[in-house]
Amino acid sequence: MNWQTRDKQRDKDNSANNLPKMVNPILIVEDQESSAVVLKEKIVKEWNVDVHIASTLADAKELLKKHRREYLLAICDLNLPDAPDGQILDLMDKAEVKSIALTGAFGPKTRESLNKQLLVDYVLKDAVNSHNYIVNLVGRIYKNQFIKVLIADDSKSALAILKDKMVLLNFQVFTAENGADALQILEQNQDIRLVLTDYEMPQMDGFEFTVKARELLRKDQLAIIGLSSSNQADLGSMFIKSGANDFLAKPYSFEELFSRINMNIDSLEHLDFINELANKDTLTKLYNRRYFFADGFKMFSEAYLTENKYTVAMFDVDFFKKINDTYGHDAGDEVLIRFSSLLNEKLGSHLIARIGGEEFAAVIKSGGSDAGVKLLEDFRQAVHDMIIPWSGDDIRITVSVGAVTGLNEGLDQMLKTADMNLYKAKRTGRNQVIAS
Ligand code: GH3
Ligand code: MG
Ligand code: MG
Ligand code: MG
Repeated sequence: MNWQTRDKQRDKDNSANNLPKMVNPILIVEDQESSAVVLKEKIVKEWNVDVHIASTLADAKELLKKHRREYLLAICDLNLPDAPDGQILDLMDKAEVKSIALTGAFGPKTRESLNKQLLVDYVLKDAVNSHNYIVNLVGRIYKNQFIKVLIADDSKSALAILKDKMVLLNFQVFTAENGADALQILEQNQDIRLVLTDYEMPQMDGFEFTVKARELLRKDQLAIIGLSSSNQADLGSMFIKSGANDFLAKPYSFEELFSRINMNIDSLEHLDFINELANKDTLTKLYNRRYFFADGFKMFSEAYLTENKYTVAMFDVDFFKKINDTYGHDAGDEVLIRFSSLLNEKLGSHLIARIGGEEFAAVIKSGGSDAGVKLLEDFRQAVHDMIIPWSGDDIRITVSVGAVTGLNEGLDQMLKTADMNLYKAKRTGRNQVIAS
């Protein structure tokens, strides 16, 4: 693999947001073979997933017999030779497979006429962008299963309907009947990424909830969409001023809600991606130098208040250049990846980062120098014991570590001392921890 293809591969890995590979196949039911094949190719290219094609209702039935429980969803042409009026959607409802309808035309009545339980969305067939829309939708439905959503509404019936819709979109769903309960759920589940909240609720209304939720989580961590049937004209702007990302007035169509949700979740994911690019090293997935200093200084300013003791450490792989020279640059990269995952395994609960080529740093909240140095010594030994298989060879490495424990000198000065100790470790034999 040359440099360029390898970088492309890394970009691809990143764009998947580190999610597990999509394993559940997709079913396309479409009698126009060329169109089905083109769509299949696009889905496979983007998501690297199995796609089955059926050209009739009868074919679809056969495939469902075998794979019913496996399908993530089915993309269904409403006009098939043996099912000209959308009967395919009834089949999917019966088989409990979520569906996307491909229709020749749609207007405001389309959804009502297609009132199916497991119909996620419908797409105008042969429209310029329809294939791209479907490819994105497939990804959205797949990714939603990892996303937690909270719905707050005092109307039990409204809550039940919304919950069904969010389950249909594959989200993990929490519900609350007032703002106070919603806030408590959010406090206990700070990985919730989307809240749909009503305005008028007993105990705590949607505005107050939004203000309090913002004290917990920023707009790039949690999207809040305000919902209300009250016909106060300024409700939308009030919600936004309270800290909501978006607002929707009732009655809204499911399409409208669905597209707002998609838009808001998409932008959270873009922000996640940008943060990841800004803060992480693409090769090792560890934090980078920029993040190390930003977070390190923050840790130190907080430590002065709590009087924690920190151990600051610098690591440098011994004779790393020799690995590149002997086995090639790809082997060197593999060694850095393995070294980093071991560092993450042993010291991942502390601040660790790759700050240069084969140089790493850590800030360990240790309570005392002995505890910090013991962790470093354990890590050094684990590196020494690690075997990295590489095209028939076993690569072994060692690491030198310089460390210092204290607080009063500040991060900058402690890093300088740690670096001096690292230099000493290199000069006096390598494969050792020198601490002061
Ligand atoms: P010492 O024990 O004194 O630290 O010797 P060393 O060979 O480890 O140190 P030196 O600083 O001479 O060499 C570091 C090498 O790391 C040089 C550089 O080409 C290589 N390197 C830096 N970044 C990467 C990377 O991302 N991938 C690979 N494969 N090599 C890298
Ligand atoms: Mg209400
Ligand atoms: Mg070096
Ligand atoms: Mg080195």
